[in-house]
Amino acid sequence: MKTLRECIADTKEKKVAIGHFNISNIEALHGIYSAAKKLNVPVIIGVSEGEETFIGLEEVATLVATLRTRDQYPIFLNADHHASFESVKRCIDAGFDAVIIDAAKLSFEENVALTKQCVDYARSVTASTGRDILVEGEIGYIGSGSNIKDSIPEGAGVLTKPEEAKHFVEQTGVDLLAASVGSIHGLIKSGKPHIHADLVAQIVTETGIPLVLHGGSGLRDEDFTNAIAAGTAIVHINSEIRLAYRDALKKFLTENENEITPSKILQPAIDAIEAVVESRLKLFNGLA
Ligand SMILES: [Zn+2]
Repeated sequence: MKTLRECIADTKEKKVAIGHFNISNIEALHGIYSAAKKLNVPVIIGVSEGEETFIGLEEVATLVATLRTRDQYPIFLNADHHASFESVKRCIDAGFDAVIIDAAKLSFEENVALTKQCVDYARSVTASTGRDILVEGEIGYIGSGSNIKDSIPEGAGVLTKPEEAKHFVEQTGVDLLAASVGSIHGLIKSGKPHIHADLVAQIVTETGIPLVLHGGSGLRDEDFTNAIAAGTAIVHINSEIRLAYRDALKKFLTENENEITPSKILQPAIDAIEAVVESRLKLFNGLA
């Protein structure tokens, strides 16, 4: 079975991207995993600090590792947007496959120092255990929160300069990079952000490492395909599946007031997540 690093290397040759989907509960995990297995493509499960607290840090690590081992399937776990060394370390220690240290709001120097600390720790764990752990750094503020926003938040959307990204990667040694290339976290009511695919290509060329596209929810199909062709290896989707889950749950509860069996109440929400993930995975993997 391929490692996450090998799956990421494959994306470059195949001109595809791996889908990264966040969960807060086991229902979402079931929906995402069903979609990935149906298409037989690798998949990354993400948990933010809040999502990880809700589902349980060791619990989510065990769930994902169990699926991977039992089915010999390339499903991986990522610590999405963790803000401190301590929170990154906890995830690495619990067995996560990848972590994102999000210090993009700090100064360049502070961002480099904190990111480097996380990279050094991941490498020390690899040296002592043989476990490969990928570290993603972030440069350029792309907003925060997988929610519905009226407009693009203040201070977000300033595009990352390729040369600054190059210095950041050289000084930190990160495996993956999140940069500001036009997308914003969350679903924007006042219009769809646009991805600058030429900037993606420039950053990938300058840094020599794959780019991760954040804030994918609500983007046009061609924004994804252009970004993937330009060197995006992973695409993050969260708000779209949250919305699908909420809407399916609301509809079922409204239409079935007397139903109290959790498996029946939650199945339509799982199916709704599966449908969104399947359609996104098809697009990211050129199967549409
Ligand atoms: Zn993100």
